[in-house]
Amino acid sequence: MVTQYKNLINGQMISTDEMLDVVNPANEEVIGQVPSCGEAELNEAVAAARAAFPAWSKKSIDERRAVVQAISATIKENSDELFRLLTAEQGKPHAQAQGEIIGASMMAGAQSTLDLDDEINEDSEERLSRTRRVPVGVVGGIVPWNFPVMMAVQKIAPALLSGCTIVLKPSPFTPLTTLRLAELIKDVAPAGVVNILTGEDSLGPLITGHPDIDKITFTGSTATGKKIMEGASKDLKRITLELGGNDASIVLPDANVEKVAEQLFWSSFTNAGQICVAAKRIYIHEDIYDELSAAIAEYAKHVKVGDGAQQGTAVGPIQNKKQYDRVLELVQDAKDNGYKFLVGGDHDPDVPGYYMPITILDNPPEDARIVAEEQFGPVMPLMKFSTEEEAIQRANDSEYGLAGAVWTADPDKGVEVAEQLETGTVWVNEFLHLSPFAPFGGHKQSGFGAEYGKEGLLEFTYPQVITVKKDNVPA
Ligand code: NAD
Repeated sequence: MVTQYKNLINGQMISTDEMLDVVNPANEEVIGQVPSCGEAELNEAVAAARAAFPAWSKKSIDERRAVVQAISATIKENSDELFRLLTAEQGKPHAQAQGEIIGASMMAGAQSTLDLDDEINEDSEERLSRTRRVPVGVVGGIVPWNFPVMMAVQKIAPALLSGCTIVLKPSPFTPLTTLRLAELIKDVAPAGVVNILTGEDSLGPLITGHPDIDKITFTGSTATGKKIMEGASKDLKRITLELGGNDASIVLPDANVEKVAEQLFWSSFTNAGQICVAAKRIYIHEDIYDELSAAIAEYAKHVKVGDGAQQGTAVGPIQNKKQYDRVLELVQDAKDNGYKFLVGGDHDPDVPGYYMPITILDNPPEDARIVAEEQFGPVMPLMKFSTEEEAIQRANDSEYGLAGAVWTADPDKGVEVAEQLETGTVWVNEFLHLSPFAPFGGHKQSGFGAEYGKEGLLEFTYPQVITVKKDNVPA
């Protein structure tokens, strides 16, 4: 018997006649069913969020903070159940699923400490001018399948703290853990403040186009982000878009090969490469290219790919069939063009599950599809460069601008190179670290606006300037 999950609308767990199947990518078995919502359910959820908004937005920030902290605590208390379910639907190994759940709890907890203080613009004898922050209203949150819980929570927490109410849609590929969380937090926030509903991709444009939603916060592909921007333009909805990336790492000739090989590997292959900020192109200086590429390839041979629920698995399957087919297509393209593989490249089509072996390419050309496109899977190209200027130019030669990294024995040199990369985040000698207090957002076609930190919180607000003329009181 497949478990049926419900949606959270106006404080109630509800279902629909039509349900969608959710598949475990490790074995392709259906592990749950979720409501298939359309316009009627969306209207109900938006009406509930709208009705809850006046009272919620008038609460003090400390009252709202307490609710965000209660959500953070609920996630932590139930982390054991939640991470197992996350592995079953998303595919990531247990340890990484646990990391996502605990990370989501910590993210909400950290974001709850932020404040929305007024700012004084002028305090003279003539006037007092002050900027206050008012919540934009009802937020539509749309979430992808690679970090479904983290992405949901990082939208719910700042929305609630700012005084907004939210209608959130998980990806149809990974809705289960989010719906279980919905059930757990049902009574934590007042009815209507958090609504979570599931449906096919077609539910997304209905959210973007809904006249009673004031803002969209979206994480997903650049292609969908463009559609959202277009849809939101009709009534000038506020938007935050966290989109794709083709993130480059640059390894300078002074980097210690032994120290960086393993870290470079995980900067690419954590979550089977399905991370917006994963290293997707690695540029290695020619002086250390042979040694470092051999060390990464050697390390890769000892990494176990398999079902994330099994002990010892370090890399799980690709999350869904559509993405699996896309990664296979890119690998086939590399084969057709005669590019050299250091490791992997051949999957077994007879094994159930969307498994792709760790695959590493040896110096494919810059215009290879596997280099030029965001692969979002366990396939990484290593490329050779001669000069720093060349590496920077090649790293920046992309429509994307999400993240990048520089590896070097000289941190000052690392910063000098980092400052020349056209991305929203650049790491020197580390990878994948995101702080809840630092703005995270993409340059170029990787996004619009930012999440996290004060900057991320302000995106859920309008500035309102109140000016009082002190010397003109008509008394
Ligand atoms: P996607 O764009 O296909 O889907 C994301 C969400 O949008 C899903 O909930 C989907 O149902 C919904 N959706 C689909 N069509 C829509 C439409 N026309 N209007 C509104 N919503 C619609 O992305 P995905 O395949 O789920 O995720 C992978 C992509 O997400 C990658 O490109 C990755 O880089 C990106 N991503 C970015 C970040 C970031 O923070 N920048 C984080 C994670 C993933």
